[in-house]
Parts: sequence; structure tokens; C-alpha cells
Amino acid sequence: MSKRANLPQCPLRYGEPCTLCQAFVTGPEDCQTVALVMSDPELKAEWARGRAEWMKEHRKART
Ligand code: SF4
Repeated sequence: MSKRANLPQCPLRYGEPCTLCQAFVTGPEDCQTVALVMSDPELKAEWARGRAEWMKEHRKART
């Protein structure tokens, strides 16, 4: 298993590991930026739209 596979994924940066880019976080589970996006209906809808688009492109690239 690669080292990258063990890293928690950033929910906001599709396909990228959490880089602890926010101050005082230990991972996505206590990231206030993630919490903010997921608690706001409009931001969450935009996140979901972007993620669906990324998944579609990601699948296309793998085939
Ligand atoms: S700290 Fe938060 S925004 Fe930054 S990479 Fe990790 S989960 Fe994503």
C-alpha cells in the first residue's frame, strides 16, 4: 500500500490528501473550513456539484 493511500483525504480538494493547511487542525475531522462548507446549504450544494463533476472526469480518465 502506498504512503499516499494512508493519508486522510481533504473533502474539499477532490482527490487530494489533507495537508493540514488550516491552523490548529489535526485532520479533516476537526477542520473548521470543512465544517463551514458542510453546514452551509449553498456551499454544500456547490461542493457536491464540483465533486460530481470531478468524479465524472476522474472516471473518464481511468477508462
Ligand atoms: S486542513 Fe481542512 S481544508 Fe486543509 S487540506 Fe485538511 S481538510 Fe482540507
